[in-house]
Amino acid sequence: MTSSSSRVRYGFSRAVTNPAQVGQALSWPNYGLNTGAPRSVVLADRQALCESIGAPVVWMNQIHSDIVSVVGSEDAGLDNSVTADAVITKDRVALAVQVADCVPVLLFDRAAGVVAAVHAGRAGAKAFIVAKTVSQMTSMGCSPRNITAAVGPCICAACYEVGEDVFAQAVSVRPEMAAKSRWGTRSLDVRACVLRDLEHVGEVEIDDTCTLESHDLNSYRRSPRCGRQIGWVLLD
Ligand SMILES: [Zn+2]
Repeated sequence: MTSSSSRVRYGFSRAVTNPAQVGQALSWPNYGLNTGAPRSVVLADRQALCESIGAPVVWMNQIHSDIVSVVGSEDAGLDNSVTADAVITKDRVALAVQVADCVPVLLFDRAAGVVAAVHAGRAGAKAFIVAKTVSQMTSMGCSPRNITAAVGPCICAACYEVGEDVFAQAVSVRPEMAAKSRWGTRSLDVRACVLRDLEHVGEVEIDDTCTLESHDLNSYRRSPRCGRQIGWVLLD
């Protein structure tokens, strides 16, 4: 780190759910549009986040792709303004990734002053979205050894059971995703796949909480009516 290093702040949100409705109802805060919650409620939660971190936020329209987009402060707002599954910036604007079982990944290089937020679900991980984001950061002046990655809560391999077809398709491209569920059937380890893409970055922090097993996290597998938590990162 040099004396000209930037300060970076980041975090992963937790949810609060009415205990009587765990597994059935939307929790709050809920940062996901198109989750069944009233739009006004989600926008208010997003506005409250901006106020608490003291910066505008860029929200992605996430489509399970491998699209990596370089964004700026002009992309900030309360709506999903950028269709992508990874965003990178050099501006003083926060980046958010919305999840409910997929892997949220935050990346930053303090020396280069570059931060990124990545949505890595099964499809994105299979398409190397995390590796592609690191590569794009490198082309913007980052050195992999100076990059720190924060990998947030996701569904664990023991819980993420999948059918034979889905398993075969994923594992044919990313063998490191192959796993077994707690009860011995086929499952996928999306986090392991993400970690493979992070092999060459300097530092990796992992929150290995399982979204399906934790009631302060939304899990789509537990309830398709769930909300979305986020990972956010900000260059100060
Ligand atoms: Zn689990």
